[in-house]
Order: sequence, then structure tokens, then C-alpha cells
Amino acid sequence: MDYKKELIKRVIFIMENSMYLIEPQNTLNLLNLYLELEKNNKDLLQDLEVLLLSDDDISNNNLYQEVKKRKNNEEYLLKLKENKNNIIDPFTLLSLVRKYVIRENIGNKEILKKIDTLDEYFRIIRYKNNKYTYISGANLEPNDIKNHIEIKSGVIRNGVKKEDKINYSKIYHYDFINYISNIDNHHKDNLSILTEEEKQKIYLLFHDEIPWNTKEVCTKSNLFFSENYCNQEFYLNEDDIFYYHDNYYMMCPNCYNIVIVDSNKLSNSIKQKIRKRNNQDSYYLRNVLYKREYLINEKKKILMKK
Ligand SMILES: [Zn+2]
Repeated sequence: MDYKKELIKRVIFIMENSMYLIEPQNTLNLLNLYLELEKNNKDLLQDLEVLLLSDDDISNNNLYQEVKKRKNNEEYLLKLKENKNNIIDPFTLLSLVRKYVIRENIGNKEILKKIDTLDEYFRIIRYKNNKYTYISGANLEPNDIKNHIEIKSGVIRNGVKKEDKINYSKIYHYDFINYISNIDNHHKDNLSILTEEEKQKIYLLFHDEIPWNTKEVCTKSNLFFSENYCNQEFYLNEDDIFYYHDNYYMMCPNCYNIVIVDSNKLSNSIKQKIRKRNNQDSYYLRNVLYKREYLINEKKKILMKK
């Protein structure tokens, strides 16, 4: 088994299907939800542990098959629709499993590796489409707080008393866990088994955004101020792109030339969003030009002071 590929498959599955794995609940309080599951639906937590951590291919997992059925079950889909504010997101789902794994694996010498492996799932779903590399697993690292990470629903701390517990784990082989939790298999820059590019790919499956590192070159523009251009590369930003006469443009952040954006770099729905935004604001073009003029003047002032 290619463990990395399997991990990616599992992450995508969780991101796609977290809402089908646990039925919508009245409470979004993580601890109550956990206690309720532990009391009445322990098998589910057990199956989730197996889904995330076992050596078995995910397609053999009970829940994997169950989700397929639920997606075609009208009654279930209706329930989801009625409770759409209370459906479980991937982060919360993983937090529940983590809590379960910690409680149920006390005395199991693989417990730390299991937690490390679960942290890898958190690291992947924490990816944000911006220039920052996030290294946090379930618990937020100080480095990531500095990067203005959005703090999601709190992770349950490991407040479990050390007592002799029966080990309910259904995992009998540890190759997947050993591979994913092994530091030697992690990239040094993000402490993760996946590269930032691989995480980005997963992220973009679920978010219709321009990859933050999409570049454009400042070059002669057919319409606006083409006499001055700096030839430098800059990153595209959806909010700064506008539509005018069949083309998409963005102001170069280095020299304030207004540059044509290669429309192949924009998805259809992003193009639609931009056009819609422009249609709603009849002054958008004037505003861009004012902003440009203002920025050029500010730059001149700074240069004169020097
Ligand atoms: Zn430029």
C-alpha cells in the first residue's frame, strides 16, 4: 500500500463526507456530542478510528460503504437539509475521533503514534490558500497564531485520568500509523507528510479560489497606461481583478500599471463572480483608476523625501 496516497484518499473522503458520517445533532458542543456518541454510538467512533488509522484500504471500510448509501437516501438527505446549521465539519469530526483514540488507547504503546498520525490529518485540513505554511496539528502552535490562523472550534484537551482501561481498539496492524507518524517521512519546512503543493491541491478540490501563488507578469497592456510597465511578476488576487471589455485586468502592485490577466488562470465561476461584482458597482473602473493615481502620487512623495 502507498500510505501517502491512502492518506490523501482518506483526507478527501473526510472533507467530502464528514456530514454523512455523523448525523446532524441538536448540539454543536463538542464535548456533549462526544459523550452522546460514546454512550449511544460507540461503534461509530470505533469505525472512524479504523477508517483513519488502520492498514486497511478505505474502500473496505464499513463507513465508506454506509456513506454511499446515505448519499442516495432521500430521508437522510432531507434531514441534512433541515439541519444544515448543525452538520459536522471535518475539523470537528477529527476532534471527536482524536478524543476517542486518546481515551480508548490508554495503555496501548502505539497511542502517541496514533495521535501523531491524527495530527497529520489536522495539518492537511488546516491548509489555507495563502502564503503561510501552517504546522499545527490538532493543537494550535504559537507559530500559526502569528500567521493569523482562524481558530476553529476548540479541540478537546487530553484530560483523561491514567487508569487501567480495556483497549477497545480494532486496529491490529500499525504500518500506516508507523509510516505517517514517522518524522523521517515529514518535510522539514512544514513538518508534514505532504508538501504544501499537495495540500493546496486537496484544498482546491473544495474551494473555488485562485491558488495564492498564481503569478502574472506586468507587461504592456492594450488599454491602460501601457507606456510604463515593470516586467516583474506579481501574485493574482481575486478581489483586485476586474472585468472590462472582454478582458480581465489587475493593477500591478509594483508599478501600478494595469495588466491583462490571462483568463485561463481563472475558473469560470471566478470569472462570473468578478463580472457580477463589477456589474453591481458602476464606479468600479473609476475607483481603480483613482486608486492607481493615489498610489502613484504617494510613491512620488516618498521618492521626493529621499
Ligand atoms: Zn508593473
